[in-house]
Amino acid sequence: MRTYCEECGKEVETRIITKRESYDVCGETIEVDAQVLVCAECGEEFYSEELDNATLVWAYNEYRRRHKLLLPEEIKKIREQYGLSQRSFAKLLNWGDKTICRYENGSIQDKAHNSLLLFLREPENMRTYLTENEVALNERQKGKLLAIVEKLEQNEEYRAGRRFLNLFFTKVPCEENGYRAFDYDKFCAMVLFFAHRSTELLKTKLMKLLNYSDMIFYKENGISISGVRYAHLPYGPVPENFDILLGTMAADHIAYIEVFYDNGYEKHQVIPEEEMPEGILSENELAVLERIYNKFASFGSVDISNYSHNEKGYMETKKGEIISYAYAKDIELI
Ligand SMILES: [Zn+2]
Repeated sequence: MRTYCEECGKEVETRIITKRESYDVCGETIEVDAQVLVCAECGEEFYSEELDNATLVWAYNEYRRRHKLLLPEEIKKIREQYGLSQRSFAKLLNWGDKTICRYENGSIQDKAHNSLLLFLREPENMRTYLTENEVALNERQKGKLLAIVEKLEQNEEYRAGRRFLNLFFTKVPCEENGYRAFDYDKFCAMVLFFAHRSTELLKTKLMKLLNYSDMIFYKENGISISGVRYAHLPYGPVPENFDILLGTMAADHIAYIEVFYDNGYEKHQVIPEEEMPEGILSENELAVLERIYNKFASFGSVDISNYSHNEKGYMETKKGEIISYAYAKDIELI
């Protein structure tokens, strides 16, 4: 990107440097590796709204990690599983009208509020809360909510499936999963996106597309899309426990792998069985998937594999090691 530099008095090339910066989050000093746009010739710093926002999100996430606080996305998920609007959820909790809205948009929540939200994540606890507290909902709203709680409680198969997946994936947001607890629904939506977009999608290429999407989204927003951890394997970065994930997706009739032979070579093609689900991925997330798809549209599995071998995160890790999202800032794609 070129821009005008006051110091040099002319239009110059820019580059992005990493710089240790301190932020004040709720009275606490948080240090983060900030990405700063500078003049390539004299080093003068330029303002970049996109980079500043990402740095701020990192600082806030680091604060949340230190204090074991739920992430905005997780708060939204708790509310949505009960089919409540931000207003009615706040009312149910006896909080101010805008409180939930602020938390979902990134404000740091009060510790006591966080504990109540964590407690209410379990449907059983929501039932207890509804029956043992005087809540500011009318009978009709209360009945509707209890019906949803019942449905969630009865959905044992769903819960058993989740418990199974939870054994293999980290639930605590950290730098290794891009500050998002593993999200199976988002992961499936990403796979379906690429499988439907491509005429023939091979498993090896899919793994790289997923990796670049998560990394680039993290670089720009301070959070990953799927919460998957990526491991360093000989053919490039691969989602951790990828075979378990694909097996679960096949059992759920979402997508499966078909093996065929081409000139003596074994090829593993991804076959989608479902349409791309609506409302699982945000517009921002979809925009990144689209960019990644276009960037690598003409790349074969081998090309993209070679390409990914040159990333710093891959070069600086050994076989089997997790490639932290901290390396995302070194990826220069688009
Ligand atoms: Zn300059």
